[in-house]
Amino acid sequence: MNGTVAIHELTELRNYFAGGTTRPYAFRKQQLLLLKDAVLKHEQDINNALYTDLKKSPEEAYATETGLLLAEINLALKQLHRWMKPKRILPDLVNLPSSGKILADPLGVVLIIAPWNYPLQLSLIPLVGAIAGGNCVVIKPSELAPATSAIIQKMISEIFSPAYIKVVEGDGAAVIPAMMQQFRFDHIFYTGSIPVGKAIYQLAAKELIPVTLELGGKSPAIVEKDADLPVSARRIALGKFANAGQTCVAPDYVLVHEDIAEQFTTTLINTIQNFFGNDAGKSADYGKIINPKRFDQLLGYLKEGEVVYGGITDRASLYFSPTVIKNITPGAAIMKEEIFGPVLPILHFSTREEALAVVNQHPNPLAFYVFTSNAVKEKTWIEQTAFGGGCVNNAVWHFANHRFPFGGVGNSGIGAYHGKYSFKTFTHEKAVMKTPVWFDPAIKYPPFKGKLKWFKRFIH
Ligand code: NAD
Repeated sequence: MNGTVAIHELTELRNYFAGGTTRPYAFRKQQLLLLKDAVLKHEQDINNALYTDLKKSPEEAYATETGLLLAEINLALKQLHRWMKPKRILPDLVNLPSSGKILADPLGVVLIIAPWNYPLQLSLIPLVGAIAGGNCVVIKPSELAPATSAIIQKMISEIFSPAYIKVVEGDGAAVIPAMMQQFRFDHIFYTGSIPVGKAIYQLAAKELIPVTLELGGKSPAIVEKDADLPVSARRIALGKFANAGQTCVAPDYVLVHEDIAEQFTTTLINTIQNFFGNDAGKSADYGKIINPKRFDQLLGYLKEGEVVYGGITDRASLYFSPTVIKNITPGAAIMKEEIFGPVLPILHFSTREEALAVVNQHPNPLAFYVFTSNAVKEKTWIEQTAFGGGCVNNAVWHFANHRFPFGGVGNSGIGAYHGKYSFKTFTHEKAVMKTPVWFDPAIKYPPFKGKLKWFKRFIH
């Protein structure tokens, strides 16, 4: 449905949840199977939508969206029983005899808000966790990827009752505050920009609604002088120019050691040409910018340094070629904002301290990449930088392994998901202790005078 949501539609979800239907293992498993079947059935429609919104090839669509989603569903189907199993907890001395367990309790009615850059998987991978956790869900896909939003709406309404899982389309700035003003969600899972994340956090705080915030930021790639240059160039180029740079974990900029800077830049340019040919506009593997507003913003960056490769653009088709830029003007916007497009600044450093000072201008990046063959440098970089997640000698791919928690830290977000971490995010660990009634010693109760020595013996 598009636009406004009536309160009774949200109350329907609350009632559905309260009825307990979503709790049993068999129900959750069945819904995951339905979702999987729907994704497989609509794979071609999904590919068409992702091509319309972002010019993704079927290969890229599978590797970065549909395939990741299917892998997440398959993992949940395999592990759900284990995840749901109550954990037995041993009693402490004071509470002997008693038994304890931790139950993974569903949260209730949760809201999932997704951005436009990976519009399918960033809406539906969280949904897998929410279903596995036994919740009812409202999904708000991004209006900036309307074709994908429409196919999500179609798929979900075909397989799920709107009292269980409902898709709400439309302008987030209007739709989301309107829903939140009339209905208290039990959790909000938001992926998108920092400013909107802050606005959602504020709305949620009024009602003490817990949030997961999957945000962005400037993720650096450090290339030390002992790095394998061809491999580093390939992995950085793939991470940066996939989806025309519109990836939250893309290397935002490269900090390369000055001794190898020229060689690295040449290798990088050759790599880009090998990937996309001389005219990336003709490459089936190269995407487009989401809309004219973002295109214009990216265009502004070209004036902020020396373009050493690319910089070719066509506003009509939203084509923005893979671009490498150096000698950035001091104070330029390109080094202040998350670029989120195919413009890659190359900066040089001579000492680690110098490089660290640049990284620290944007604390807590969502991702961090270091390319080096030196174990000490690797350890120092990884330990001394606070970041959400990252790679050594690679970029972006940690996102795809759902055995890792995926999320930011500090400025780049709150909470994490994927695989069992999604299940944890969408459930509450409810601690329950059960104490038999046949043993109830007087020492536990007032008057306490004279019992201190016993307390000290039992509580320590
Ligand atoms: P966005 O914040 O503009 O939009 C995201 C969602 O929020 C959309 O569904 C939109 O409808 C909704 N929205 C927009 N304005 C709103 C408002 N005022 N109130 C409530 N909801 C509102 O983000 P975007 O431009 O779609 O995404 C780009 C950003 O997302 C980048 O910063 C990127 O790094 C980040 N991102 C992060 C991840 C991650 O996993 N951490 C993944 C993808 C993108």
